[in-house]
Amino acid sequence: MTTSLHSLREQTSPRTRTIETYRHLIGGQWVEAAEGGSLPLQDPSDGSLLAEIARGTSEDIDRAVIAARMALAGPWGRMTATERGRVMQRIAEAVLAEADTLADLEARDVGKPLKQARADAVALARYFEFYGGAADKVHGDTIPYQAGFTVMTLYEPHGVTGHIIPWNYPMQIIGRSLGAALAMGNAAVVKPAEEACLTILAFARIAEAAGLPAGALNVVTGTGAEAGAALSAHPGINHISFTGSLPTGALVQAAAAINAVPVTLELGGKSPQIVFADADLERALPVLVMAGIQNAGQTCSASSRILVERPVYETVVAGMAERYRALRVGPALADLDVGPVVSHRQKGIIDRYIDLARDSGLTIAAEGEIVAGSPADGAYVRPTLIRDVPPAHRLAREEIFGPVQVIMPFDTEEEAIALANGTPFGLVCGIWTRDGGRQFRLAHAIQSGQVFINNYGAGGGIELPFGGVKRSGHGREKGFEALYGFGVLKTVSLYHG
Ligand code: NAD
Repeated sequence: MTTSLHSLREQTSPRTRTIETYRHLIGGQWVEAAEGGSLPLQDPSDGSLLAEIARGTSEDIDRAVIAARMALAGPWGRMTATERGRVMQRIAEAVLAEADTLADLEARDVGKPLKQARADAVALARYFEFYGGAADKVHGDTIPYQAGFTVMTLYEPHGVTGHIIPWNYPMQIIGRSLGAALAMGNAAVVKPAEEACLTILAFARIAEAAGLPAGALNVVTGTGAEAGAALSAHPGINHISFTGSLPTGALVQAAAAINAVPVTLELGGKSPQIVFADADLERALPVLVMAGIQNAGQTCSASSRILVERPVYETVVAGMAERYRALRVGPALADLDVGPVVSHRQKGIIDRYIDLARDSGLTIAAEGEIVAGSPADGAYVRPTLIRDVPPAHRLAREEIFGPVQVIMPFDTEEEAIALANGTPFGLVCGIWTRDGGRQFRLAHAIQSGQVFINNYGAGGGIELPFGGVKRSGHGREKGFEALYGFGVLKTVSLYHG
């Protein structure tokens, strides 16, 4: 199926757009950057100027931390857990009511096709529904101790939590980290990515209108080097949640270490799917591809390596190649299979990896199609499937963060495990087999934060603890595990004789 040039133009032609300037949200007020600076945001579908955002500096971070501290001492800090939960449930409903508007904004800002952006808005609502419902279900323990004592544990919020968000899933990532932090009673300072942050600002407006008290959520936009570094090093921050690249995560952790602040790092991966010869290939094939190209491959849990048992290797290569050739890439609002990547900088990184494959003599098994009529200034990359990639090659070991998958054969279960574990990362692994014993052997042997058997959960599973081992990071997002991570356990020992 092809999209006509006419319908593409109709959906994506530059309308008369007013360029809005967005401010920070600090203590319930929408304020300009202390130093008055701003940054441009580009629409990756056509390269046009989408909006301007405030360029936050350490002074703005200071103001936001003070506002959050005041919220803890004010109405937000005085709410019971049940009241907090109710506010969060109202936010969830308001987000759902605005899901189409949020999706449109996310599509323009990040470049993701509308239906994927809408799924992210629904996920944001679901995080607030889940954590809102969980807020008053957090409880400690009583511990048997010596005669005459009663000992109990209490969960308390850390205080002011810092959230450094990447550009690939602004709505989902603020949902998972802020949802858990607020449910536990923290007040938050959020630093979104400078490439894409409009839905986070829109969400903050929705949350305010739904009754979130001033200062419980503060949003300071700006660059990583300015606002992000100031947040990581701020002595008034009590916990940091970071999602992004390994080098930046290491900087954030080092800055936080000076103040002995706990940090959760979610750093991406090179996640494999392992396909054995007895797998249900009909079920596996669409998932193998979708897990690699969703959000143009810019997903921390993207499955970028496909390992296939040799007897079905050619069948899987052919099945994936057929699906790749049918993939259509184009403007986000045209809502095709794949949108542009987030920026020309990101496109440059991905293009260099594809060039490296060609220069190394690797075989491109198939590519998707950029539909005719896509704006020349859009950041489009053809989804690319590369076959027979040697495990030691950079393409098989490094996170590309684009719509590129590598596929390689294996002969034994031991070899499959060694290949799957053979990168510095360990975020997610998919295993496709009908053999029950093998399912459990691999679930134990794989070094990874999540293992999916006969399915692959990239991006989904609000209830399922998520996070990495090895260089994919540490700490857990999602589920109850994240909620407890946003609390501090206090032990209270009472001697009563
Ligand atoms: P990045 O890690 O530099 O940026 C992520 C966030 O950190 C952004 O909000 C950024 O402003 C902030 N930041 C940057 N420098 C900072 C600093 N010194 N102190 C504090 N915060 C800082 O990622 P990027 O440059 O946008 O992307 C580069 C690569 O990172 C991508 O190609 C991809 O491989 C990876 N990445 C991974 C994820 C993920 O979900 N794990 C998300 C985005 C990017």
